[in-house]
Order: sequence, then C-alpha cells, then structure tokens
Amino acid sequence: MAMETEAQPIINELNLKQTGRIELINADIYSGNAFDASINIVLNGKCRKYSVDQIGTQPATLIAHLGIEKFKPDLIINAGTAGGYKRHNAKVGDVYLSNKHVCFHDRRINIPGFDIFGIGYYPCLPSEQLAKALNTRIGIVTSGNSLDYTEEDMTVIRKLNGEVKDMEAASIAWVASMHNVPFLAIKSITDIVDGKRTTEEEFLQNLSFASDILCKKTIEMLKQFTNN
Ligand code: SAH
Repeated sequence: MAMETEAQPIINELNLKQTGRIELINADIYSGNAFDASINIVLNGKCRKYSVDQIGTQPATLIAHLGIEKFKPDLIINAGTAGGYKRHNAKVGDVYLSNKHVCFHDRRINIPGFDIFGIGYYPCLPSEQLAKALNTRIGIVTSGNSLDYTEEDMTVIRKLNGEVKDMEAASIAWVASMHNVPFLAIKSITDIVDGKRTTEEEFLQNLSFASDILCKKTIEMLKQFTNN
C-alpha cells in the first residue's frame, strides 16, 4: 500500500502489528493472522528527502520486489485509492477490482515492439465472481506517474478502456508477473478524472472517506478468499 492514510483503517481493523521494516527504502511492515491467512502489509513509508508518502511507480516496483522476496506470498494485493471516470459512471467511494490486465498509460514509445512493451498488459486475477460476491465494480486499471494527465495520456486511457487511474498498480503487477505471484488490485475512488473539480482538491477531500470504504471491502474480500 502506498499511503499511510489508505492503510491505517485496515491495520486497525485487523489489529496488525508492526513486525519489521525495509530499511533501504524506509518502508514499514505490518503483520497478523486473519481469516486463516497470514497477512502482511508493506506500507511504502515516507520519502527520507521530502517526508511525504512514497507514491508512484518507482517505490512501488522496488517495494513489491523486496516484499515478495521476503514473504513469498500466495497472492499480492495492491489496495489503494484511484481516480474514476464520469463517462463510466464512477462515483467517489465506488470500489473497483482490477480486471483482464493492468497497463501503463504514460509510457508512449512509438516504435514497433516497444509500443506494446510500454503499455505492459500485465495479468491480474480474474475478478468477475469476486466482484459479484463483494458488490464492487471491475475495470481496467491504468497507472502513470502523475496525479493529473496530459491529452496524450487520455488518448491511451481511452484506447485501453481504462476505468481506474492510479500511480502504482502496473508496476506491482509487472513485478508480480516476474515472480509468478497472482496479482489483484482493489481501488477505492477518491476523484473523478473527467469531472469538473481539480483532482488534488477532490482527492484530499475524499481520501479518508474512500480509505474507510477501501478497508471495509478489502476485509470482505479477504474473508471471501478463505470462505470465512
Ligand atoms: N497530494 C496527495 C498525493 C497523493 S497522489 C497528498 O499529499 O496526499 C495520489 C495517490 O492516490 C497515488 O498513490 C495514486 O495511486 C492514487 N490516486 C488517487 N487518485 C488518482 C488519480 N486521479 N490519478 C492518479 N492516481 C490517483
């Protein structure tokens, strides 16, 4: 998980305790047992230079790799917040599960072979059944390194039929695919990308609300996995 505000409700609800750190990148590990499973949250932690949550694709890549090496998980879940789209009828607080594949929307390399490499199309767990059971939506998640977007980003997002815009999922899915660990993203909508309000204002206003909903649905999902 990328941000402390996103993770705190889940840590509290599952009564997870801090059990370690990944010193290299200042990430914190919270662990516990719930629903017959051993659960480890690797929380990206704060940037040592700028003191903010380490969001974006580079911390996500490195932490996913170090986390998978450490825990050898059966499943890696990227739980977080994201932007949704008015044109797909998304509302703040809607929860989406990743579906089909996870892509990058800001790696434009217009050379044959490199174009598709840039997009990625990394696999994720089939989520239709799970979404029905949890009453969540499903959609294609696309990631980039900016909270806002350029017109070029939006062209790619439309082509990919992206319904969920974030800054981490594709990197984690890439690392998970190399390790042959199944990947799933669960994303709670904080802001409407093609809506009227500026993303940063809407994001900050809704972060805590969306994180509480993320907590509720993530825990329901963990229960589903273990049929508890
Ligand atoms: N200014 C914020 C920074 C958060 S950036 C702050 O200081 O609190 C946004 C984070 O939420 C990223 O981790 C990203 O994955 C997710 N996110 C939410 N809405 C997004 C959007 N519209 N586009 C991209 N990422 C988004």
